[in-house]
Amino acid sequence: MRSRQLFTPGPTEVPWRVREKMAGPMIHHRTEEFRAIQRETIDDLREVMRTRNPVMLLACSGTGAMEAALVNLTKPGEKVLVTVLGKFSHRWKEIAEAYGLDVATVDARWGDPVRPEDLERALGAHPGVGVVFTTHAETSTGVLQDVESMARIAHAKGALIVVDGITSVCAEKLETDAWGLDVVVGSSQKGVMTPPGLAFLSLSDAARARMEGAGQPAYYFDLKRALASHEKGDSPWTPPIGLVMGLHEALKMIKEEGLESVIERHARNARAVRAAVRALDLEVFPSVPANCTTAIVIPDGHAEQIRKHLYDVYGIRIAGGQERLKGKIVRIGHLGHYFESDIFTVVSSFESTLLDMGLVAAGGRGVEALFREFHEM
Ligand SMILES: *Cc1c(COP(=O)(O)O)cnc(C)c1O
Repeated sequence: MRSRQLFTPGPTEVPWRVREKMAGPMIHHRTEEFRAIQRETIDDLREVMRTRNPVMLLACSGTGAMEAALVNLTKPGEKVLVTVLGKFSHRWKEIAEAYGLDVATVDARWGDPVRPEDLERALGAHPGVGVVFTTHAETSTGVLQDVESMARIAHAKGALIVVDGITSVCAEKLETDAWGLDVVVGSSQKGVMTPPGLAFLSLSDAARARMEGAGQPAYYFDLKRALASHEKGDSPWTPPIGLVMGLHEALKMIKEEGLESVIERHARNARAVRAAVRALDLEVFPSVPANCTTAIVIPDGHAEQIRKHLYDVYGIRIAGGQERLKGKIVRIGHLGHYFESDIFTVVSSFESTLLDMGLVAAGGRGVEALFREFHEM
């Protein structure tokens, strides 16, 4: 079978070293051997999240960790504020409503970030909000938000800030402690190059204090229980042992490359893809683009056919638009283990697809833009 490659913003490609670790023999979790792996994994996560706060591992996808954060930090009926600018940020609202919270939102057009001054105004209009739920990189539109400024504003109004960092951890500058982010949520199948099923979150002192007083009924996702258990190097339930071993290896790879280099590589890849898109006379969708994915406006309803052709003919899987953006955009993921040669692969295949479909007259302009970006020609 021809090789296939994922260029989707989750799941992302899993490097060989990570797959090999996960294919090894199963070990038991109530052993020193596993405790050491878990401890190192958590310490490395704290490094990439730039925090001294405790970090917890949860056996679920990213949404599970979002739910865990919300359930443990809020009371039923309490008023919270959510920034809504796309499908994933809207998920905070859906979770909050599912738990009976009183949800106020501050919205942006899909494709734009919520501006910090809009958040400030919204907090002024909704006094008594104790927690702001927001999103660093909104993957459905490819938008990056200024969560550093948002944290300052939330704290000035006496609110905590909970950040979905699921597609920004290891892909963007993200300073959990320096920016005062009370909770940052991440998950395995994104920038940390591991299969789906393992999520993580950090908790500041203020978040832990709030958890003591607030919190809704929870059992599997009771973070107080997880915290107490992690302090002993343990986990309350059987952890996804294979995934933890995979993440352990992935974080080792990130440390070897260096976090700053990893983030710079993401920024360079994202810049290069955007340059190629513009060279092809196509429009980059977000006004403030994130490094995780490039959303591209596709005119005339060709989006789904482009995706199908890319996969069927070139073995390249990219993402489409979600909900109101379905059929209107495609999203090339470059989050995780992607290097210059991978970017050439995806752009040349994308360009070939446009050529095959008769949407461009000649090939080469996108690839030429990559040469300029990567080699400063
Ligand atoms: C992928 C993603 C999620 C979580 O999705 P799961 O399918 O639950 O892992 C949440 N937020 C953002 C921004 C994402 O990109």
